[in-house]
Amino acid sequence: MPDMETIVSLAKRRGFIFPGSEIYGGLGGFWDYGPLGVELKNNIKAAWWKAVVQERDDVVGVDAAILMNPAVWQSSGHADSFVEPLADCLSCKKRFRADKLAPGQTTCPECGGELTATRWFNTMFKTFVGPVEADAIHTWLRPETAQGIFVNFQNVQTTMRKKLPFGIAQIGKAFRNEIVTGNFIFRDREFEQMEVEYFVKPGSDEEWYRRWIEDRWNWWLGLGLRAENLRIRPHGEDEKAHYASACVDIEYCFPEPLGWAELEGIANRQDYDLAHHTAGSGKDLSYFDEETKEHVMPYVIEPSGGVDRAALVFLLDAYHEEQVRGEKRVVLRLHKDLAPIKVAVLPLLRNRPEVVAVARQIAARLKPHLNAMYDDTASIGRLYRRQDEIGTLYCVTVDVQSLDDQQVTIRDRDTMEQIRVPIAAVVDVLRAKITNQQIGKSANC
Ligand SMILES: [Zn+2]
Repeated sequence: MPDMETIVSLAKRRGFIFPGSEIYGGLGGFWDYGPLGVELKNNIKAAWWKAVVQERDDVVGVDAAILMNPAVWQSSGHADSFVEPLADCLSCKKRFRADKLAPGQTTCPECGGELTATRWFNTMFKTFVGPVEADAIHTWLRPETAQGIFVNFQNVQTTMRKKLPFGIAQIGKAFRNEIVTGNFIFRDREFEQMEVEYFVKPGSDEEWYRRWIEDRWNWWLGLGLRAENLRIRPHGEDEKAHYASACVDIEYCFPEPLGWAELEGIANRQDYDLAHHTAGSGKDLSYFDEETKEHVMPYVIEPSGGVDRAALVFLLDAYHEEQVRGEKRVVLRLHKDLAPIKVAVLPLLRNRPEVVAVARQIAARLKPHLNAMYDDTASIGRLYRRQDEIGTLYCVTVDVQSLDDQQVTIRDRDTMEQIRVPIAAVVDVLRAKITNQQIGKSANC
């Protein structure tokens, strides 16, 4: 397992993740995704959406607005109870979460200075809607995507004619003005969530809770995370959220000092949300069961994970250093669905126009099918190392011999094995390897 610094450095150096507004000194808890980071993040979201929405009959998606009527946050409990205890050091001005200090501690753990009394701090970002601040409606940037799902429960249920059990999924940005950020993108102030609210009949909630834990566990493993770095930890009575009757975290073993920490939470929220929005809005959000001819308030199972945290975990878990012929090789063994670049096409000699032309042509033919790039900015050894370090699955190399025999070399990231393939078959061969699709007779090698 690499340390966090190694991943921060690789992410910066190779164009995955940069500190937010870096040229102005940054802004704590905000990060910008670079050209490879946005590909990785998009691939994570696409894999989640495919597994959770598109491959299932019982889940549909929404994309709700980030700003909502402030009454939503009154009903959900966030306006009053989305708070963290805060203490400031009077000497060094450092800020601490009071619940992370030793019980009864009154002095600064950093400098020994005097701490202020604990104050409660709502971690939602306040903003206002309307051009004149004094007359505007004050609301908050959403601290979770879930509420955008609950307020649309009836819209979705009736328009899509859904019967219990069914789920609504959403991927989107959320914002929390965390007192303490850190550990790279583990805890950001702006982050992206992937959440499902799965509505069930009361009484079947325990069963669906178990099934979602299993589904989500298998999803992480299916994308290549090593089982020994994952575990399931049920929440204790003292750490359960106010809305949840049961909650587990799927945890990942992060590098020290973080250690085991949450990757995804799965909670049984019972009818807390729909009941509170029914009371708050005056709209009856109960579900009419055609079979029993009764109105029921559905219970909710919620699997909720962070896209940024997932990106961090996939980078950490994929990172390998190995010795190859006496030299260190860094390779990101990202799952093929997650790798930002699937294929790099490299000319062995960049000063031979005929070789360059063939390489560019192959890259252009690959691009409609998978994310491919052309690169001639260094020697071949360097280009391989660079592609290994960003997790590129295959390198296609065009050499002088290719001009004669119309064949190129395909190199596998993980095994470093090289095979010779006719140029005419390159697209089909790579598509078959990367998408696992059976390609018909057109592959002639
Ligand atoms: Zn201090």
